[in-house]
Amino acid sequence: MFDKIRNWRIRRIVARHPIPEPLWQNALQRCAAARRLGASDQATLRVLATLFLESKSVEPTKDLELDDADLVLLAMHACIPVLKLGMDWYDGWHSVIVYPDAFIPRRQKMDAAGVVHESNTMLAGEAWGRGPVILSWAEVLNAGTKPGHNVVIHEMAHKLDLLNGEANGFPPLHRRMDHVAWSHIFSGTFERMKEDQRHGVELPIDPYALESPAEFFAVTSEQFFESPANLREHLPDVYRQLALFYRHHPF
Ligand SMILES: [Zn+2]
Repeated sequence: MFDKIRNWRIRRIVARHPIPEPLWQNALQRCAAARRLGASDQATLRVLATLFLESKSVEPTKDLELDDADLVLLAMHACIPVLKLGMDWYDGWHSVIVYPDAFIPRRQKMDAAGVVHESNTMLAGEAWGRGPVILSWAEVLNAGTKPGHNVVIHEMAHKLDLLNGEANGFPPLHRRMDHVAWSHIFSGTFERMKEDQRHGVELPIDPYALESPAEFFAVTSEQFFESPANLREHLPDVYRQLALFYRHHPF
């Protein structure tokens, strides 16, 4: 019953706010991960992107102006991780703040001695538990230009990870997934790659993944959708777990 009501609501939203065909085609041209999908997955992605634009508020900052084509592109990238999961996985937050370029978050951190540090790291994106997703538009436009990079997918992966508490590389797994296998494979691969890094071995994915288990999940999620063949070749166990989690085999 509730499903019927929801489907009716979704149909109504999509009917009232359709994404115009030229804007959709334009976004597809600019998003390799979406181009790789079959026709029926692309149709699902279009519904999700419509719902995303209706339910989230995209807020450009500084002098940045985003037109409708840009918004459709952003929504397309953002919905790729939930293609087979559904928009419910993005419940509980509302805003996407977009800076023109890399930004310095105004954040204070208190260390063990009680000293507050102002962070001054330049960021391409950031995601908070129930707060906004923050993105650099320059980085959004760079998605896919460096193989396997997609800042939007990266931040959305953090959002999924945050659904069950802190970002720790352990998102809420589906009922039939094996929690022990997930931990074993992710932490084992993480440690092995750290070891490789210490020995100067070239890594098959962005070394930023080794910052923390949360970053490892976000970076491998980017790879999963942007360079699935590379991930499957070099980290097949991680690829398989991500395929179970995202309910999708992009390769
Ligand atoms: Zn991250």
